[in-house]
Amino acid sequence: MTARVIEQSPWSFDNYLLLLRELSGLEQPRDLCFASVDFWIKIYNIPFVKRSRALANIVGNKLGQFLDYDQSDVCGWTKYMRVRVLFKVDKPLPRGTVMKIGGERIWVDIKIERLPGFCYAIGCLGHVLRECSAYDEEVPESELPYGTWLRASPMKTRNGGGKPEKDIENKLFHDLREGGA
Ligand SMILES: [Zn+2]
Repeated sequence: MTARVIEQSPWSFDNYLLLLRELSGLEQPRDLCFASVDFWIKIYNIPFVKRSRALANIVGNKLGQFLDYDQSDVCGWTKYMRVRVLFKVDKPLPRGTVMKIGGERIWVDIKIERLPGFCYAIGCLGHVLRECSAYDEEVPESELPYGTWLRASPMKTRNGGGKPEKDIENKLFHDLREGGA
């Protein structure tokens, strides 16, 4: 159960990011660090022939810190590459990046899977727009640098296949509560 919960992370509770770590029990509390979170990112506009682990590594490290590359799409039929990237929680989320591909500089769009609520004005996790102290309400939401478009729909997983997201989330919280009791 725990491995699956960590594998499918990050989770959110009431639309807020929930950071989970697997612990051995031997850690010192002062060493527990929740300053970062990793997400699966869908990376668009990369030509089929250019897709590789090496390129995933480069683009991942431009967006944050590269962790993993989903190689399940060997034929390159999907519109995107999937890369697991570690982000600093207190930094604005990336919206994409410029990559040099085949001698040409192109803008690469991204979408983030399982992205919880975040601020559309400054792109940070931890609060939403209506709680933002930096947001000037004169600016219409449609003109903000961020929006729901950054959120990708998650891949169907073998374990959770077809099951509504909410059911899996409810089961997780039930198990966490039982485990902690
Ligand atoms: Zn804000």
